[in-house]
Amino acid sequence: MNRLNSVQLVFTMVGCLCFCLQAGCSSSTFRGNNDDDIPGKYRIKTDHVILHSDVKLDTDDPLIRELKELRRQIARTLELELGEKQVEVFMFKDEASYHRFLANHFPGLPPRRAYFVGTSRKLAIYTVWTEQIREDLRHEFTHGVLHASLPSVPLWLDEGFAEYFELPTVPGVPRDDYLTELARLQQNGWKPNLRRLEQLDAVGEMQRLDYAESWAWVHWMLHNNPQTRTSLLDYLNYPDRADAMPLSRRLNLLMPSPEQALARWIAQSNSRSQIPDQN
Ligand SMILES: [Zn+2]
Repeated sequence: MNRLNSVQLVFTMVGCLCFCLQAGCSSSTFRGNNDDDIPGKYRIKTDHVILHSDVKLDTDDPLIRELKELRRQIARTLELELGEKQVEVFMFKDEASYHRFLANHFPGLPPRRAYFVGTSRKLAIYTVWTEQIREDLRHEFTHGVLHASLPSVPLWLDEGFAEYFELPTVPGVPRDDYLTELARLQQNGWKPNLRRLEQLDAVGEMQRLDYAESWAWVHWMLHNNPQTRTSLLDYLNYPDRADAMPLSRRLNLLMPSPEQALARWIAQSNSRSQIPDQN
């Protein structure tokens, strides 16, 4: 199913855990954005982002510049042909007005700090100004850029890329938080399983560990070697061909056990990151 034909919600909770709700919300639950409870005090329009905000920001605010640079970074990293669709960001100034809006427009959803809502008509981010605004915006905007450019993105991969880009880390340097968590789980018997991730197609099925594992596969494939990187990028950029051969099978053509290779990378990278700085 073309996911842009359905309403998709991706939302960030504390700790940047996200869920996607697909097809569970009909388009009728999404009302127009001319309602008076939506941020509209300030409006900044750039080529690919429109920000509606109740928080005053200048056109050259670092947050706006960061989103522009993030869009370029995503295109460079993923060799993505960027789409022309604009992403609209609705930024509330306080949690009270934000949660009131959510209750009115998306009743029943749990309160989270940010949502991405993608439909065939509109790509929108709803969020509130908090200390985590930078990473929340980076995460949701990654969803926006992907859905503005591609007809479909598998759920686990969508979240894996959003987790990959949400922190402004040096390219190739793995996230300490997920790396530490996955290494600890591995010591207790957990093993990566890409085929299991590929089966996930409902947000309710995705747990925090699934976001961490999705990040790990994305990071490892991008930086392991040119073959794993090409395999990932071909899979992403040619979704019509992706259905014919899942990524797990593509990786199996490159190596006998990608799961073991990822597990080794997690253990080795984590032990390296634990070595104290000698300087
Ligand atoms: Zn997400």
